[in-house]
Amino acid sequence: MRKRLTGAIVLTALVLLAAGQKKLPKPGWNLFSKEQDVQMGREFAKQIEQQFHVVSNKELTDYVNRIGMRLVDRGGLEKYPFFFKVVQEDSINAFALPGGPMYVHTGLIKAADNEGQLAGVLAHELSHVVLRHGTNQATKANATQLIAMLGGAVLGSGSLTGQLAQLGIGLGANSVLLKFSRGAESDADLLGAHAMAKAGYNPVEMARFFEKLEAETGKRSGVAEWFSSHPNPGNRVKSVEEQLPYMARGPYDASEGDLQKMKAIVAKLPPAPKKPGGAKGSGQGSGQGGPGPLPSAQKPVSISMSANTVTYRGGAFSISHPDNWKASSGQNSVTIAPAEGLVEGGHIGFGMIISAARSQRRVNLRQDTEQLIRQLAQNNSNVKLESQPESITVAGSPALVTRLTSDSPYANNRETDVVITIDRGNALFYLICIAPEPDFQRLEPGFQSMVRSIRFE
Ligand code: ZN
Repeated sequence: MRKRLTGAIVLTALVLLAAGQKKLPKPGWNLFSKEQDVQMGREFAKQIEQQFHVVSNKELTDYVNRIGMRLVDRGGLEKYPFFFKVVQEDSINAFALPGGPMYVHTGLIKAADNEGQLAGVLAHELSHVVLRHGTNQATKANATQLIAMLGGAVLGSGSLTGQLAQLGIGLGANSVLLKFSRGAESDADLLGAHAMAKAGYNPVEMARFFEKLEAETGKRSGVAEWFSSHPNPGNRVKSVEEQLPYMARGPYDASEGDLQKMKAIVAKLPPAPKKPGGAKGSGQGSGQGGPGPLPSAQKPVSISMSANTVTYRGGAFSISHPDNWKASSGQNSVTIAPAEGLVEGGHIGFGMIISAARSQRRVNLRQDTEQLIRQLAQNNSNVKLESQPESITVAGSPALVTRLTSDSPYANNRETDVVITIDRGNALFYLICIAPEPDFQRLEPGFQSMVRSIRFE
């Protein structure tokens, strides 16, 4: 036993020696320019500040800014137009947009044990910005379309975020811009730890805080959010400790203020006023039950329906649709939509959904329609009935038209949903025509032509 033990100790020592100095990470392949990161961040910041309640307490905001700027100025991080704002959210999170804007949740301030831990999260986020992880990931995921978009004449007019929305890139749940890979996480830890050491914070505090959060996942609400976009690369404390010999020496005694006092300010904040769509509409992907957060994509400027039509043939029906809208079939439904009408996370901003609910008994059109509407109201946010069901006929079958409105996946928009339910004997066949309220009337004749073209096999 003893002999083996000695062997193990020797082996550990060798591994430690072998760790060596890790090279500081650099930004990866990117089709966006640094200036475009900055422009994009500014545009997204406007969206964020419409959805979150930004805390206006000067003492608190100044404190967070002093920590952030200390990390930037002394930490040797590349310069971006950084700013730091506190948002009133109980979950333990902070996020930085490409190009610099950073938002710190009040829940994070409550959870930090010391200033070093708060600085650690900021240093980690700042590193994502400097390493341009968001746009690097967007580049890798959408290279072909981005080459066309960023290289073409398209760019220059209008907003960058509007153009990105057309590729389905926004700040919605699982956004490619804010959900990082494990590799990006270790890089942000490493660069962030070096910046902390230079700025006079103990770099191990960052890793310690992440490990503390990890241990509390599941036991405490509001932690899962962090790890859903910053996956744990593992052994964080050990990784930082291994690199300590290569980092700026202490003393690690930086202090920009009294964290306990800041916690007291946070505790006394009046409840945040309700934002349109709710503060949780941020699309930060809390992953809890219910309708789930809507993405906050920017509404495309113009959506048209081409006069040229093509026919989609499903198993039981066919429908003609504009040739610039594409039909795609899912497990139980067919979606016909323009590319710009599809929003991250499977939401549809413009388009038509076609599906059917099979029944053991004969369809009762009115009852079954009411049940379908109730289901839609449960799965979508803020559904309102605009008009009672009206009888029509579709392809010779009795049908009902019901008009609803609900929250659109586009930021600050409501949408019209016209639901057409058709009695097919042993199945309730239905179509939902979807467009933001301001656009619906213009597209309605097109939707009507599509409905008129339906033929059942
Ligand atoms: Zn991260």
